[in-house]
Formats: sequence, C-alpha cells, structure tokens
Amino acid sequence: MNRLTGKVALVTGAGRGIGAAIARAFAAEGAAVVLAELDGANADATAREIAGAIEGARTLAVQTDVTQPASVRAAVDEAQRALGPVDVLVNNAGINVFADPLTMTDDDWRRCFAVDLDGVWNGCRAVLPGMVERRAGSIINIASTHAFQIIPGCFPYPVAKHGVIGLTRALGIEYAPRNVRVNAIAPGYIETQLTHDWWNAQPDPQAARKATLELPPMKRIGRPEEVAMTAVFLASDEAPFINASCITIDGGRTALHHD
Ligand code: NDP
Repeated sequence: MNRLTGKVALVTGAGRGIGAAIARAFAAEGAAVVLAELDGANADATAREIAGAIEGARTLAVQTDVTQPASVRAAVDEAQRALGPVDVLVNNAGINVFADPLTMTDDDWRRCFAVDLDGVWNGCRAVLPGMVERRAGSIINIASTHAFQIIPGCFPYPVAKHGVIGLTRALGIEYAPRNVRVNAIAPGYIETQLTHDWWNAQPDPQAARKATLELPPMKRIGRPEEVAMTAVFLASDEAPFINASCITIDGGRTALHHD
C-alpha cells in the first residue's frame, strides 16, 4: 500500500477511464496525485471521489489541455507549488480519431496528432527539466496495441500511437544517463467510455460489443484497473532498470495469429 509514498504524480486525462483508475491506484499506494484533465468539473469530481475513498489521499485537480504547452506547464507549476516537484508523469489523455485516409479532413489529422502525440510531448517537455535536474523521474506514456497493429478504417490514430512508442524510446535513451525512465503501456481493448462510444458509433452496437469481447484469447476485454496496476509498477522503485520499453496489456491478443 506504500509503493509510491513520498512521490508526486501527474496524470493527464484523469477525469475518467484509464486515467482515473491510474490516479486512484497511485493514491492508494501513497502518491500525491494531480489530475490534469480537460474537463475541469470531471477532474474535480474524480479528485474528490478519490480523496473521500482513500484515507490520507492528497489530490489536486487542475483543468489542463494537453494540446497547449502553456496549459501543461501551468499544471506542472501548480502541482509543484501545492505538492512538490513531479516525480511521475503519466501521459494518458488521448482521443480516437478513426477515419478513411482519403476522406479524412485536415482537421481530423491535426486533432488526432494534437492530443495523441503532441500532448504526450508537451507533458514530457514540461516535466523533463526538473527530472533531469533532480536526476530522478518516471514518465509513462499510454500508447495502444494500435502502436504495432493496424485495423483498417482507424486512420490516423495508429500513426500517432506508433509515434508515442518512438517518442518513448527516443526520450528514454536521451535521459537514461540522468536516471529518468521513459516507458510506455500498450493496452488492447479496455472497457471505458471511449470503447462504449466506439461501439455506439457502429451500425449494430450490441453486435460490435460482442465481436470485441470475442477477440482476445481470454474472451474478455480489459479493465482500467488492470492498466493501472502496471502503471503503479513502472512508477515505483520496483522497476529501476526498465527504460525505453513498452508493456502490452491485451490478454495475449497481439500474440495471437488467429483462432
Ligand atoms: P476516455 O475517453 O475514457 O478518457 C480520456 C480522458 O482524456 C477524458 O477524460 C478526456 O476528457 C481526456 N482528454 C481528452 N482530450 C484531452 C486534452 N486535450 N487534454 C486533457 N485531457 C484530455 O479514454 P480511455 O480512458 O479509454 O483512454 C485513455 C488512454 O488510453 C488514451 O490515450 C487512449 O488512446 C488509450 N487507450 C485506450 C484503450 C481503450 O480500449 N479504452 C485501448 C488502448 C489505448 P474529456 O472527457 O473532457 O474529453
């Protein structure tokens, strides 16, 4: 229960879904947690819920838009003033932009990259100077199995997620001599609002849900808490030599050739 005691962690997109689960798990392990979320009301509600459920939890909600470097810098500054320097950053905020490459609009392309890749870089850039100076830090980027595999019609999301792995590896190597670790987590299907929104956008949402649940060898999809457990591990002092790596959490789906 004390694997992150004394650490300050900032989680982007922490108002709901995987980010909220990570914030909750970090607080349960003793970290002070900053919920940096686009929807300020959601951030507040989740921060209050965590503080109410976990005795002694320290949470701070900061309305943040990861597409705006100044907004992310302001969140990191506010975190430092209120709780201390950021030891752990989870770049979790992300959106689905699924389109056909040739009918996709320029706006779709920009929106996807602004959140899913620029947002990750904006987070890294905001915390790295402090981490490098203190010679300590752990950055965890939430990628996706779309970072290795392609599903037709999901363009350009996987392009951005491939970029997240590249960014993770590049920064992990760049700052390894300063004891800053940069890793990624690649979840497969996880049941969150994002997944429900995708099912609901299909012509037959029930059939889409059923098909998704059949895909992984374990015949279920993941839970946000199952991603959070790995984030705790990577954030903790239990993973001191894991750097520039990516841990896949998909019940074995990407290893499966076919049933
Ligand atoms: P959700 O949509 O449930 O949650 C994402 C959160 O990020 C929302 O609270 C959203 O706020 C916030 N957000 C969106 N844009 C911004 C922004 N510009 N600045 C700050 N916060 C923002 O998604 P998930 O929890 O499912 O996904 C989290 C991450 O995991 C994403 O990076 C996603 O790509 C990745 N992932 C998810 C998988 C899944 O199956 N669910 C599988 C693989 C990867 P708001 O509600 O206001 O938009």
